[in-house]
Amino acid sequence: MTAEVHKETLDFQAEARQLLRLMIHSLYSNKEIFLRELISNASDACDKLRFEALTDEALFEGESGLRVRVSCDRQARTLTVTDNGIGMSRQEVIDHIGTIAKSGTRQFFESLTGDQAGDLRLIGQFGVGFYSAFIVAERVTLTTRRAGLGPEHGVRWESTGEGSYTLETVPCEHRGTEIVLHLRADEDEFLDGHRLREIIRRYSDSVSLPVEMPVEMPAETPTADEGGAGEWETVNRAAALWARPRKEITAEEYDEFYRHVAHDFEAPLAHVHTQIEGTQSYIALLYLPKRAPFDLWDRERGHGIKLYVRRVFIMEDTERLMPNYLRFVRGVVDSDDLPLNVSREILQHNRQLDVIRGASVKKVLGLLKDMAEGEPEKYQAFWAEFGRVMKEGPAEDYANREQIAKLLRFATTHGESGAQDISLDDYVGRMKEGQDRIYYITAESPLAARNSPHLEIFRKKGIEVLLLSERVDEWMLTGLTEYAGKPLQSVAKGELSLGGLEDAEEKRDLDVVTEEFKGLAERMGTTLAGKVKEVRVTHRLTDSPSCLVVDQDDMGMSLRKLLEATGQKIPANPPILEINPEHPLVKTLKREQDGVRFDDWAHLLFEQAMLSEGGQLEDPAAFVRRMNALLLAPAG
Ligand code: ADP
Repeated sequence: MTAEVHKETLDFQAEARQLLRLMIHSLYSNKEIFLRELISNASDACDKLRFEALTDEALFEGESGLRVRVSCDRQARTLTVTDNGIGMSRQEVIDHIGTIAKSGTRQFFESLTGDQAGDLRLIGQFGVGFYSAFIVAERVTLTTRRAGLGPEHGVRWESTGEGSYTLETVPCEHRGTEIVLHLRADEDEFLDGHRLREIIRRYSDSVSLPVEMPVEMPAETPTADEGGAGEWETVNRAAALWARPRKEITAEEYDEFYRHVAHDFEAPLAHVHTQIEGTQSYIALLYLPKRAPFDLWDRERGHGIKLYVRRVFIMEDTERLMPNYLRFVRGVVDSDDLPLNVSREILQHNRQLDVIRGASVKKVLGLLKDMAEGEPEKYQAFWAEFGRVMKEGPAEDYANREQIAKLLRFATTHGESGAQDISLDDYVGRMKEGQDRIYYITAESPLAARNSPHLEIFRKKGIEVLLLSERVDEWMLTGLTEYAGKPLQSVAKGELSLGGLEDAEEKRDLDVVTEEFKGLAERMGTTLAGKVKEVRVTHRLTDSPSCLVVDQDDMGMSLRKLLEATGQKIPANPPILEINPEHPLVKTLKREQDGVRFDDWAHLLFEQAMLSEGGQLEDPAAFVRRMNALLLAPAG
């Protein structure tokens, strides 16, 4: 087989240059982190090789001691990071290195504000990795060969980060990747061995692979530091952090390790570290990030939880190790009992892994519970970032739904700010005497929820209602039908039943007016046949003349809309129109003799109710015509 030898120039995607410029600008004050990024990538590449070599030892090519090397050349003004890991094929270089912008980049740019602090945060969420090299380098040359391919399959990638890169095939004797940074004029600090050692110890101490530098030569021979002397020494601690005794690990080390595994720029919000010994021995070191990564909603997100078996990296697969609603968790799980030669398929049905996963989920939920109780402000910050994901929990993880439910936070009619900061325990703790349900309303927006006519009677009686207006809420409700023995009840479903909250007198009054307005309700029902299932008198309204409800077991309006938006065909199911006998419009209508006018009013009361639900009118022009006719008509 002949290798492609041609040299070609390829363009980055349109956004790449802008992204790079922004990154260099935003990260400049923290520029030495580029070295951590390159070392983390190198260490990942070695982990991948070690794993692939489990089934194909030839990939080691006789050299199984994996390591990362960092050296500099003061004359050439270059800094070099080399690893003997898995390397990359030509196509992999194009896919992984030539593609800075991942899916969602355009969205990312739209979220930029121009405000430096905010943008720095965003760039952290975006994750810049390899490209952080351009913070200090004016040109970067990457030479790589994938383990297992012949020496003629080396690839050289070079770029100044200005919009294009070149790619050529070069002979490459050693497998793995070498990255040469041609430093910018004022970046001499990265040519200083002491400084480099200091950076490596600070940022890469917990990388489990040795990071080596040339043994320091006496000061008279400064140019010998290219590694030419052949003597290398390990600069970092090179021990798996998670396997060290917990009490010996400092908070800084935990934070730094997080940055390394999660490729995050910020420190984590919290971590939990368990070392279990017994019939099943394993270690889990799990972190909660401070901020949601920009691709949290992207199903094909990259980083997550790394699985190791006796310190050997096996795979990175959050899905197998965490349920979806905890997909933001980062860290490592290291099992002593799994066989080293496991494949993805075997892991899919592995009981030991199920046990580890179950225990890890409990640990994370416990961590969150402690935070919610002990550091409510911190928990609130967590909720603001990940609440929408956590709400997938009750439906996904039925076994843990009680614990998850405790962690949920809501906006309610009692909260002033509209923030989601009220727990179900708060709610239950202040339920009215005689109240036996947890009331909620779902709507398309926070405002529509808060102002819905359905809330009128609840306001009047001071009963708290959960305001649900996120898409995920409907999904959450399928798994959260009760809490602490109290069923959840939509305020827009079924006949209003306030149970013990109503006094006997009110009930009697209602019976009387229902009787009185029965004729009207029936007449309206005939007029609106096909549009509504039934018209009935209600006392759930105090200010509005009418509202729509559905039967207890029917699909709510907002869920219906949600499903219809996804293209599903939902069988038509007309709502019930409820009218407020206290309202002047309804009273007037009761007296209306003119058939045409009655018709118009009846339709208007229905259409108003539809609109305040955020619903679509079937014939908006007819609505406008009717309204105008009635506006112009002399009062009846
Ligand atoms: P990230 O690490 O966040 O995915 P990077 O831009 O740092 O983003 O790297 C992109 C990809 O390039 C990596 O996921 C990996 O597949 C590949 N890569 C980077 N550095 C190396 C390396 N030293 N050896 C092999 N592959 C690498």
